[in-house]
Amino acid sequence: MNTTWLKYFTGMGLLVFSGLVQAVDCNAIKAKYSCPADTKFPLHLSFDDGPALQTTDVLDALRREKVPATFFVLAEKVDCGRILQQCTKADPATASDGSQCVEYRQCQLRSIILNKAKQDGHMIGSHSYSHLRYSGLDLALMTNHFQASRRVLAPYLTTEPPLFRLPYGDGWFNRKEKPHVMQALKDMNFLHVDWQLSAFDWDTKNQEGDKILDNVLTQVCSRKNGGIVLFHDGVDNQMHQGRLFTTSNIAKWIPAMRCAVDFKPLDHFLKGYEVK
Ligand SMILES: [Zn+2]
Repeated sequence: MNTTWLKYFTGMGLLVFSGLVQAVDCNAIKAKYSCPADTKFPLHLSFDDGPALQTTDVLDALRREKVPATFFVLAEKVDCGRILQQCTKADPATASDGSQCVEYRQCQLRSIILNKAKQDGHMIGSHSYSHLRYSGLDLALMTNHFQASRRVLAPYLTTEPPLFRLPYGDGWFNRKEKPHVMQALKDMNFLHVDWQLSAFDWDTKNQEGDKILDNVLTQVCSRKNGGIVLFHDGVDNQMHQGRLFTTSNIAKWIPAMRCAVDFKPLDHFLKGYEVK
């Protein structure tokens, strides 16, 4: 191909690309959220409650934008052996390979997606076994759930000590009143990772237009500080309804966020901790 043709095809490619992807007007974004003109704040994206089938949309966006993230996942979503057992219990004629069990096949897909997240270089931590309010549970049951999450998630966890984030912030927000929760995590050698900003994407009131992006950039630019921001990618049961809004729009929000933030890996915010 001669250079003229090469220029032509490159030009067409750019045209097609720019037609598909809306250009981001960083000056307008910075003005809208009163962000400083010449400073970017460090930010790390974290996603709770997955893995879900829609996590692939998040992974695609992160790969395209070269953004590192952390996924705090629920062990029950990849505990496929247990899911197959439940299928067999409900119908003893279920084939041993699980081919007739829809929940099992979905679990296998979630496992593949979680592996992909790990291969893509993202951090994976536990968000417990099944998203209970652990501070209200018996200590033995709580410990049992934390350990089960570690056992099931062992092939996926990316750090030593493994990362953990409590569901509902329960045990972290109320750590003075319920010190046994954080203590149990510490005794089990989990590193609890909290967040400094929330996208409030769990609230259905925010699931329209760019309200979730507004939440993030308003907090970053008014505080003049970044941090770890909480999003959700889990979508497949009652508790997670509506999170599809995040998985479908994150690709659009990342370039807009980049006008005011510098995406950093998790280590940037874990100074003082040795994670490998
Ligand atoms: Zn959660």
